[in-house]
Amino acid sequence: MAPVPKTMSGILIEETGGVEVLKWKTDLPVPELKEGEVLVRNEFIGVNYIDTYFRTGLYKTPLPLVTGKEAAGVVVASAAPGLKEGTRVAYVADHAYAELTAVPADRVASIPDGLAVETAAASLLQGLTALTFVREVAGLAPPHAPTNQLGVSEGPWVLVHAAAGGTGSLLVQMLAVHGAKVIGTAGGKAKCEIARRNGAQWVVDSKSEDLVARVKEITGGKGVDVVFDGVGKATFEADLEIVARKGTVAVFGNASGPVPPVDILRLGAKNVKLMRPVLFAYIATAEERAAYTKELFDLLLTGKVNIHIHDIYPLQEVGRAHADLEGRKTTGKLLLKV
Ligand code: NDP
Repeated sequence: MAPVPKTMSGILIEETGGVEVLKWKTDLPVPELKEGEVLVRNEFIGVNYIDTYFRTGLYKTPLPLVTGKEAAGVVVASAAPGLKEGTRVAYVADHAYAELTAVPADRVASIPDGLAVETAAASLLQGLTALTFVREVAGLAPPHAPTNQLGVSEGPWVLVHAAAGGTGSLLVQMLAVHGAKVIGTAGGKAKCEIARRNGAQWVVDSKSEDLVARVKEITGGKGVDVVFDGVGKATFEADLEIVARKGTVAVFGNASGPVPPVDILRLGAKNVKLMRPVLFAYIATAEERAAYTKELFDLLLTGKVNIHIHDIYPLQEVGRAHADLEGRKTTGKLLLKV
């Protein structure tokens, strides 16, 4: 294996702001390995909405920063027993927007045979989010998918906002596999069609339809048992209206801005459970990470869940990727190629 260089290319954020603060650098120091870490040569890097929050300063972090939360590639140096150079790996960890990233060994997953490195890079963060949320927020056990005589599944009513997006696409597919009755929302006809193909049995066009009225109609007035909302500010008020008595509203993102503080007394009218789930607290231990990652890879390898890659951008053009994501121009997953 070629010797590890002293400097590398990558994207540095020195001040928060618009996409122009994502600066391409060719002389970043290659991270020095600590005990228990491996150095990964990133081939594909996943773009996630959280990357835009660190860029804009919505989420606070010390600067300068190499951001990016996931990638896949090859181990080129190892200070961890049991993880050899040359192993194909994917990971969810910090500082991925670069040629090389030092990652604690218990945060990397070996990519199984049969899974392309692009698919691994595109699936891990959003796939683990969807899977942990299906299990731990919606409380759905591994798939059984019962159907009644009309072919309609008997699971809970679940609504997923942005159901053609990266995380939304995976949530819808996994919920469908688990037998939920899934309503997806998406902006525009083309995105609604994608949400339907993902497995949403009902779709609501968030650009042209009245969400509250449509959900009442679809559910016969009951409302939905679980709302998954990564849009945030723009949709939160509707969430409280469409959730069923004793249902759960899980706000897990801020694509339209963060939800303002909520008067907890409002939850009492329907005994609503309000959550703000975050992936990282569901995969905090090595055991949790390993178990959920194995299950995710199995879903991908068996074709029960599929990854749609919207586009692969050169790492230098990460600003264009952020602009497309924030501009609601994308469906599925955005990748960067190093
Ligand atoms: P997406 O691919 O879903 O892109 C965001 C989508 O949100 C857009 O395509 C758009 O879909 C919709 N949207 C609605 N209103 C707006 C708006 N005003 N501005 C921008 N987008 C809007 O992104 P991700 O899958 O990367 O992330 C989705 C959400 O999930 C984010 O909020 C992210 O932070 C969150 N997330 C949270 C995690 C956690 O652990 N809590 C983990 C992973 C993701 P449409 O046009 O169809 O409305």
